[in-house]
Amino acid sequence: MATVLILGGTRDARELAGSLPGDTVISSLAGRTTSPLLPPGEVRIGGFGGAEGLASFLRTRRVDVLVDATHPFAARISANAATASRVTGVPLLVLERPGWIPGPGDDWRRVRDLAHAAVDLPGLGERVFLTIGRQEIAAFAGTTECWFLARTIEPPEPPMPQRLEVVRDRGPFTLDGEREILRNHRIDVLVSKDSGGPAPKLAAARERGIPVLLVDRPSAPPGTATAATVAEAAATIASWTSSPGR
Ligand code: NAP
Repeated sequence: MATVLILGGTRDARELAGSLPGDTVISSLAGRTTSPLLPPGEVRIGGFGGAEGLASFLRTRRVDVLVDATHPFAARISANAATASRVTGVPLLVLERPGWIPGPGDDWRRVRDLAHAAVDLPGLGERVFLTIGRQEIAAFAGTTECWFLARTIEPPEPPMPQRLEVVRDRGPFTLDGEREILRNHRIDVLVSKDSGGPAPKLAAARERGIPVLLVDRPSAPPGTATAATVAEAAATIASWTSSPGR
């Protein structure tokens, strides 16, 4: 039986925790939400204290495999995972859904980060649907030309845009629900991170013919083993932990 540490905060991380029945699984959450959806098995909550703290946890708990199943935009914890893996020799697997690819009818404008999105926004529309989480809403605090609808799990904190309405909700979302939001709030531009996975909001934006400002992912540390799906990750972990000589 191997010990697997899953850095989570995503649905894929929860599903992976439930699909490793032969292993001891520890899931780790940052502690950002007050009532997180918990994965099966052992769960620890809160930061480790940087890469050093994570490395020390890997040693103390004799972790055999480290899985970074955090959100693609959670760049600091991913960098810490890469460092901790390197210094301890515990193999690292990054579970990350592939980014989105536009189809016919999509009007996507890719931007490097949210600061660039804030600059481009006023030229694209006035009524904006922000689906970027709560932590970076401050990027739009100075965008006085626009009215914002932000969808977040926890309430956002200042600085925030002056004209902001918040709808508190947690996915998964449906196409009908997304259509209703765009229609009821007369949304004319959508802002999203390129998170990957099912995205009815993108289909609803396409149907409505509105542009999407899509924030590119931060680049992943080079040379890391990756899996695109939970099943792929589970298979890779099984192959690593069953190999002779472990
Ligand atoms: P981040 O900026 O990459 O990480 C900041 C610090 O938070 C890390 O240095 C680490 O503290 C702690 N941390 C982050 N994820 C952790 C985890 N899974 N377990 C233990 N500590 C963790 O992270 P973030 O963007 O704020 O994301 C926080 C959490 O929310 C992650 O679990 C992520 O999967 C989830 N999430 C993020 C987004 C997003 O858009 N960024 C969207 C959905 C879900 P120490 O250095 O002290 O260890």
